[in-house]
Amino acid sequence: MANKQIPIPYKIYLTEEEMPKQWYNLRADMKNKPAPLLNPGTKQPMTAEELGAVFCEELVKQEIDDVTAYFDIPKDILAFYKMYRPSPVVRAYELEKKLGTPAHIYYKFEGNNTSGSHKLNSAIAQAFYAKHQGLKGVTTETGAGQWGTALSMACAYLGLDLKVFMVKCSYEQKPFRREVMRTYGASVTPSPSMETNVGRAMNERFPGSNGSLGTAISEAVEVAVSTPGYRYVLGSVLNQVLLHQSVIGLEAKTALDKYGVKPDIIIGCAGGGSNLGGLIAPFMGEKLRGEADYRFIAVEPASCPSLTRGKFAYDFADTGMVCPLAKMYTLGSGFMPSPNHAGGLRYHGMSPILSQLYHDGFMEARSAVQTDVFNAAVTFLKCEGILPAPESSHAIWAAIEEAKKCTETGEAKDILFGLTGTGYFDLYAYKAYNDGTMTDYIPTDEDLAKGFATLPDIG
Ligand SMILES: *Cc1c(COP(=O)(O)O)cnc(C)c1O
Repeated sequence: MANKQIPIPYKIYLTEEEMPKQWYNLRADMKNKPAPLLNPGTKQPMTAEELGAVFCEELVKQEIDDVTAYFDIPKDILAFYKMYRPSPVVRAYELEKKLGTPAHIYYKFEGNNTSGSHKLNSAIAQAFYAKHQGLKGVTTETGAGQWGTALSMACAYLGLDLKVFMVKCSYEQKPFRREVMRTYGASVTPSPSMETNVGRAMNERFPGSNGSLGTAISEAVEVAVSTPGYRYVLGSVLNQVLLHQSVIGLEAKTALDKYGVKPDIIIGCAGGGSNLGGLIAPFMGEKLRGEADYRFIAVEPASCPSLTRGKFAYDFADTGMVCPLAKMYTLGSGFMPSPNHAGGLRYHGMSPILSQLYHDGFMEARSAVQTDVFNAAVTFLKCEGILPAPESSHAIWAAIEEAKKCTETGEAKDILFGLTGTGYFDLYAYKAYNDGTMTDYIPTDEDLAKGFATLPDIG
């Protein structure tokens, strides 16, 4: 709760001086460290050398370092950050009024850049290290398209080639996202393609397949490891991505500290866990060190409930089973989520860092059905004026739920949530909502059992 009586503005910005100069590595303060990535062939921990065949050198160092608390942000990345950061912490006064809640609601808005999401924070870092290593280009996959867009911006800025495998249904349904990437100079291929072994095999087994994130990852990795001068980069899940995204939480904490506000509850949507991991990082650090207490809530779609209904186990990150195995909350790499408009939350697994913290009881998780999420999104957009991404709207939903509880108890809690992006490329989703054709499929236990059956058997 706020301990100073200074009036809080609608938007809290930081000066360039106040912006973070280092990323914070949450793992340094975790007693139970996230489990190491395993080689899918030998089932032994991946060595830096093995990881280096797939990922950039400097990023491998960040990936496996669980003791160094702070990493300097290279000055070229700081310069790029200054073009679109700091992002504001906004006090949602109008939403509070609408809800009639005594709670104070704050959101950290990451949608103010052309990619429309927080993904640019890690895209620029990963592209920078690839360039620094003298690489020619990188490959990646994109589901909903936000990550591919962010990476295409970063690669264009640094003069790196980029090859994006875009899940075929998104490639067809989101032609404008595709064109943004191509305009930045990226090559965009619908996945499954005929350019890789994995893609050709998928096309043969499932003719006319709409594709999946897991297959697109396998294709991107295959091209990266078989093309000299290329590496693969990933927009979420990995430890290095959470490290880069800590800039969100560090800025948010500095902004709130200026006004003496200590959030009681911190909420974020969770797909692979990068925005949530970044937002909570410095606060969770205080909690782990016993310096302060906060409640953290991860919100996921009921159609893809990895934390709330998944298993904590080693699993494949991709369908082709070429990526390292990660120990995480997972629904199984063979899990096929039912159609859901929050494309960025349709991943079968979850960040190993967040999985471990959740397993150890430091974080809560809940799931939301799609129509509830869109009801929350529309309440928010009418008061606060921002058209939120469907992914972000999961966090809005939980923040509203918590604010309503405050109305009942009369408590003036401080609630902070991550507003990860805008929804201008998701208007088919809003159309379904407006037309009343949106569905709320929740997988049955039998549906989940099929996904769990694809888990590898590791002791
Ligand atoms: C990708 C994405 C997410 C989910 O990814 P995380 O890694 O869990 O943060 C959430 N919101 C938006 C707008 C996204 O683009």
